Amino acid sequence: MRVTIRVGPSCNLCRICEEYCPVGVFEIVGRSLHVKQELCIYCKGCEVLCPVKAIEVVALDEDLEISRVTALRGSGSALIGS
Ligand code: SF4
Ligand code: SF4
Repeated sequence: MRVTIRVGPSCNLCRICEEYCPVGVFEIVGRSLHVKQELCIYCKGCEVLCPVKAIEVVALDEDLEISRVTALRGSGSALIGS
């Protein structure tokens, strides 16, 4: 699954996501949070645990699918078998 991980400016480098993530996506180096989003397995735990709600994990494949279905519905095309 392809994901994109956004970390907002409210991050205070508390290390909770770094300690929690089961696949080591997060690493705090000095005063910055490094994100290896290609490792993410989309468990969403970091989003839930971040005390300042700085993290957003978005599944790109699902986004594309939702956009495709919405476009088909808007055009009146049949969705059967898609
Ligand atoms: S849990 Fe949230 S505030 Fe803490 S280091 Fe991670 S992104 Fe930053
Ligand atoms: S969603 Fe799960 S696997 Fe992905 S970065 Fe967050 S804690 Fe790690």
